[in-house]
Amino acid sequence: MAVERSSGPFSFRCLTEGFSLRGVGLHSGRDCVLTVEPCDGGPLLRHEGAEMPLSRLGLVGTGRGSDYVFPDGHRVRTCEHVLSALVGLGAWGVRMTVEGPEMPALDGCAQRMAECVMEHSEPCGAGPEPFALAAPLRVGDESRFVAAFPSSRFCVTCVVRYESPLIGTQMLDLVLEPGAYLEQVARARTFAMEAELEALRARGMALGGSLDNAVLVGSGGIRASGGLRWPDEFVRHKALDLIGDLAAVGRPLCAHVVAVRAGHELHLRLAERLRALSGGHRGS
Ligand SMILES: [Zn+2]
Repeated sequence: MAVERSSGPFSFRCLTEGFSLRGVGLHSGRDCVLTVEPCDGGPLLRHEGAEMPLSRLGLVGTGRGSDYVFPDGHRVRTCEHVLSALVGLGAWGVRMTVEGPEMPALDGCAQRMAECVMEHSEPCGAGPEPFALAAPLRVGDESRFVAAFPSSRFCVTCVVRYESPLIGTQMLDLVLEPGAYLEQVARARTFAMEAELEALRARGMALGGSLDNAVLVGSGGIRASGGLRWPDEFVRHKALDLIGDLAAVGRPLCAHVVAVRAGHELHLRLAERLRALSGGHRGS
């Protein structure tokens, strides 16, 4: 895929037409449809007749995914991979309409969504005003945290550490721009530990998970369709998640975000802090 590179810190893309994607939800296992359309002042989320800016919706990251909660309490589950593809490519001006309880899981990463965004958009000069972080902040404790520092660009550093020697400790540094996103992050799939899968399913989660959309790590080895795409696919997926979760701020970030053994809950706690500092959604 050809990618336009801009000279400034952020590249933006504008949708030239809408598109829809259909598929099973990763956790609910139910058929879900996402329709993405161009809109001024996005990103907006529409669900069950309600529509709100992403930056004003409630956030819940405790259920192995990132859920966006409307004021009446209903929610759209597992939004992180779709949002990651959109903001990773700079496509902020979108209205997302979801039918079903969840975003479709698609390929378990952001590749299919990214291909659709690239196919149905073109580079454009304007996007939401970036939020420049003025002072460091941090959420979490000494062993698991997300910290953010002022920076002229949006950079992420992710560290994962798992007991399984199949993953071990991995680190990824990335200066976010569309080319790097497509080449280094978009194809990294979500993963689960075999040992926890049964417990997740008993809690009504991962019902739509399969080797078509996830990597499974077990005592006998790694099960992944076509094998791992990189030896460190796990930390790359964490970066994919982090980028998607920070879309909750509703604007690009001039910040270096460092996530150490973090997950959706900490990512979204940082997003809440950034929302408060950035004064909410521009123009709303
Ligand atoms: Zn993920």
